[in-house]
Amino acid sequence: MVRPWLMVISSMLALLLACGAGGQGSGGEGMVKDFVPQDFSALKGMKGFSDKALELHFTLYQGYVKNTNLLAQELAKMAAQNQTASPAYAELKRRFGWEFNGMRLHELYFGNLGGKEPLAADSKLKKKIEANFGSFDQWAADFKATGAMRGIGWVVLCEDPVSGRLFNVWINEHDLGHLAGVTPLLIMDVFEHAFIPDYGLKRAEYIQAFFDNINWKAVEGRMGK
Ligand code: FE
Repeated sequence: MVRPWLMVISSMLALLLACGAGGQGSGGEGMVKDFVPQDFSALKGMKGFSDKALELHFTLYQGYVKNTNLLAQELAKMAAQNQTASPAYAELKRRFGWEFNGMRLHELYFGNLGGKEPLAADSKLKKKIEANFGSFDQWAADFKATGAMRGIGWVVLCEDPVSGRLFNVWINEHDLGHLAGVTPLLIMDVFEHAFIPDYGLKRAEYIQAFFDNINWKAVEGRMGK
């Protein structure tokens, strides 16, 4: 004869096991999902950026998302097939950071555009910029000068969480020059596709248009506490 308390315990165990299995199956730990392109179409109509140039840029960004997913899948497949000693694996491994950063930097770049208000004088970020660069104008001059450097890449205003200091950094292409462990606050794309469709070789005019559309609330929201 089965005792009633034993039946209660076995029912509870069955329920716990069912919940656990359900958790895994519905996307809990252990499930890896592909990256999904974000929709930045709300930026269309922004002053100084034609819709055509923005659409071209969104398409390029989607390519980075697609290739990040592709490389992640391919690398996992090759690792599972013990092909990690192959030159192909090594080359894809090197390439992964280029594609991933191309994806993430574009998300940060589009995410810090579309603003209409200047950075508030009493904001935490403005005070920190002034403390680090002497004045807001000196910071802006350095950021713009970094963006005017020859070559293709990105300018990043970043915050070092260890020291609390801010830096304007040049990232060559997508992957060279990142400071380890810093938080990117403001990101500007200076690949040629970002400005040539609207400004030709007048990169300084594009940089000014970028400045006119910074979403400072989004930038400040990226700061550490
Ligand atoms: Fe770009």
